Amino acid sequence: MATNDFDHQKLSNRILTGMGLGLVFGILLNLTVADQAWAQNFLIDGVLGVVGEIFVRFLSMLVVPLVFVSLITGVSALSDPKKLGRVGGKALALYMLTTGIAITLALSAAVIVQPGVGASPEQTVERQIAAQPSFAQVLTDMVPRNPVQAMAQGDMLPIIVFAVLIGLSIALAGKPGERIGQFFSDFNVVVMRLVGFVMLLAPYGVFALIATLGATTGLSTFFGVLKYVLLVLFMLVLHASVTYSLMLRFIGGLSPKVFFSKMRAVLAFAFSTASSGATIPVTLKTVEQRMGADNKVASFTVPLGATINMDGTAIMQGIAAGFIAQYFAVDLSLTQYMMIVLMVIIASVGAAGVPGVGLILLAGVLAQVGLPAEGIALILGVDRLLDMTRTAVNVTGDAMVTSIVAKSEGELDLEVFYDEHPEVLAAARGRVS
Ligand code: ASP
Repeated sequence: MATNDFDHQKLSNRILTGMGLGLVFGILLNLTVADQAWAQNFLIDGVLGVVGEIFVRFLSMLVVPLVFVSLITGVSALSDPKKLGRVGGKALALYMLTTGIAITLALSAAVIVQPGVGASPEQTVERQIAAQPSFAQVLTDMVPRNPVQAMAQGDMLPIIVFAVLIGLSIALAGKPGERIGQFFSDFNVVVMRLVGFVMLLAPYGVFALIATLGATTGLSTFFGVLKYVLLVLFMLVLHASVTYSLMLRFIGGLSPKVFFSKMRAVLAFAFSTASSGATIPVTLKTVEQRMGADNKVASFTVPLGATINMDGTAIMQGIAAGFIAQYFAVDLSLTQYMMIVLMVIIASVGAAGVPGVGLILLAGVLAQVGLPAEGIALILGVDRLLDMTRTAVNVTGDAMVTSIVAKSEGELDLEVFYDEHPEVLAAARGRVS
């Protein structure tokens, strides 16, 4: 079979069509038969639920093997181990910087727009303080006690640490290292190929996921907190389009227009699965094959970003914290704002890229500044849509930082980046599986 038996452009269009049709179908179900038992059991939980779940499972199935194999391949191919430190340092700095900007923008927006003011401030509230994940814990958890267990649980940071160490050892192990390195490099091609197959299922999977959402979400949930929803959506779009474009242009020297034009499939995957973790295979394939980032950089920065970089989540958490404080008429001090910034950054590092985790971690952020965790109940009903959108922003941040770091290391193939149909070129350079 040819290496690229699907046309990426066509596939992206089919995925977007799947989304659109899914939305229409879901809303139609919602307006007509969704509350009847047969439709719920057979159509929504049945056909749509099964197709959507299988699609997400296929993606999730690929994440651990792909990250492990691809990262080993990338690291073992590094001629200069210092480069790994440099790539890691740059990626970390940019990930932290963008998350810092995101939370600052979000809190400023919450203070200016005041989405929670005038809602219903008289409510009495019991305060609950949730346990905090300590920074020391996050740090020690990065080193796996047992790598197989880390893989079984899909814990990304310990998997990354283990794969980097194996990759470095391969690079330093002479002839046996070369042989094992070759094995992983071939294995990487095979796994990437599998990613291509799973992507072919995307139009159907995406249809099912979006249709389920459309069929099960009541519109009325949105109206109560409409200002909050619109503000989060607006800030997500603003951060992705303005902050990222400025960074691409001025730090990376790259065209934001070209970058975003290549992100369509990734965005559709992130949006419909609401999981940056499950989207890793597509993000990795896109940045390597459509943007020209070398595997040496991308295999490290993409899974790292999917785990520690969550700008979209930070935006939601910042606005939600402001919204809940305003709703309960709590005046936040400057120290409390600073605390929110810090806690949101730590939460985004510690969080796994799975659906809904941002809202769960919000409880910790609220507790830290003495805001009532019950406030989460206010926004629970609308979180899925926001989760989907913020995940799309999270993965865009990962791809953006990957492109900038790759470019700065001389590991971004600009011809591929600026080529509208780069598969042929990338294939010729051995980048396509
Ligand atoms: N679903 C998000 C992600 O995977 C995390 C969140 O809940 O904000 O990136």
